Amino acid sequence: MFESLSERLGGVFDRLTKQGALSEDDVRTALREVRVALLEADVSLPVARDFVKAVEKKATGQAVTKSVTPGQQVVKIVHDELIGVLAGEGDPGSLRIDNAPAPILMVGLQGSGKTTTTAKLAKRLKDREKKKVLMASLDVNRPAAMEQLQILGTQIGVDTLPIVKGEDPVAIARRAKTQASLGGYDVYMLDTAGRLHIDQELIAQAAAVRDAVNPRETLLVVDGLTGQDAVNVATEFDDKIGVSGVVLTRMDGDGRGGAALSMRAITGKPIRFVGLGEKMDALETFEPERVAGRILGMGDIVALVEKAQATLEQEQAERMMKRFQKGQFNMNDLKMQLEQMMKMGGMEGMLAMMPGAAKMQKQMEGSGIDDRMLRQQVALINSMTKKERANPQILQASRKKRIAAGAGMEVSELNKLLKMQRQMADMMKKMGKMGKGGALKQAMR
Ligand code: GDP
Repeated sequence: MFESLSERLGGVFDRLTKQGALSEDDVRTALREVRVALLEADVSLPVARDFVKAVEKKATGQAVTKSVTPGQQVVKIVHDELIGVLAGEGDPGSLRIDNAPAPILMVGLQGSGKTTTTAKLAKRLKDREKKKVLMASLDVNRPAAMEQLQILGTQIGVDTLPIVKGEDPVAIARRAKTQASLGGYDVYMLDTAGRLHIDQELIAQAAAVRDAVNPRETLLVVDGLTGQDAVNVATEFDDKIGVSGVVLTRMDGDGRGGAALSMRAITGKPIRFVGLGEKMDALETFEPERVAGRILGMGDIVALVEKAQATLEQEQAERMMKRFQKGQFNMNDLKMQLEQMMKMGGMEGMLAMMPGAAKMQKQMEGSGIDDRMLRQQVALINSMTKKERANPQILQASRKKRIAAGAGMEVSELNKLLKMQRQMADMMKKMGKMGKGGALKQAMR
């Protein structure tokens, strides 16, 4: 799926191959084409506009890491932003089906794949969640639709409510509820009637059924191939009936992926599942990462940029190590270390990872160094001027007083911090002398 969009974006990004920081021009040129590509993929105009704006803000001025091109970097930013737009909260695949029997209402236009999806979902609940499921068709105008559900039920081993001629949809829904309670079912799924277009009768019927059973989930099934129309249908169903999630069908086709992107942004409704074929197990939980990857068709580039970013961090670490080897360990370095420690679970966790630091670890033991203390130490460093951080040896009594006051602490605390910095500088120097591949280098890994 999404082939046309990914191909288009591919062409756009191939053109961006210069190295260096992403310039405004680079980004703007690329994004103008991204916007056209999104519109051609049937993403709605406001969604495309917002999307491009967000990417532009993130991309402009961002340093391009060594081993990737600006184009590749933009792909990564577009990819991350796509995930941001597509993702909802929580797990899309987990349905609210506690309090058995839980009613699930299936709504949608005729031909959207509603009946097929009802059966697919029933099979999924049965196989994966070991639920006992009952299905009922409410499509009283189309006996063939009722039979279709029955046939699918037999095929997947899920019970269907016996068909009673002449019953209205609300009566069928009530009977399904009773049967589900009596029969010890976990879930009962109501496959409502579909029409070719949304009309008043369709909405009134679905609303009446909704009021009769009070569904835990109302899932709207829409044809993913219909692009912007799918979004309009979703907006209208949600306004009139209220839906808790969307299932996009026919995402196996070579349609334009715009519907998925606009759906979440415009309706605010999460996409819960995607239909990927006619077979009964061709239903998958909606995964934003996968869909974003498919839209771009550039998963390998995303991985490459991630790797390059890791390399950049490694380069920074190596640069730092070179300074340490010369005994250059100032307050900026200490601050970075302290913040790192907060992330890694305190001083002990950090020291435990550094060979040769056992002695220092002993000194720290029982000294009560915890997160609060780390935060106070960072506050003291923040209270220093740039010059003071780079050359802590210039700190005399008046400067110390000012710094401590600025952090709301005593000068004695600052003295402890200074002592720690000197010890660390010493230690780094000694470890640095162990040479390349020595203890320090290993510790930085
Ligand atoms: P309903 O009228 O909304 O109940 O639609 P149906 O469930 O009868 O589906 C209409 C047609 O679409 C059937 O031939 C299904 O096999 C097919 N269909 C449903 N979902 C998918 C899907 O995800 N991919 C593909 N390729 N076909 C699907």
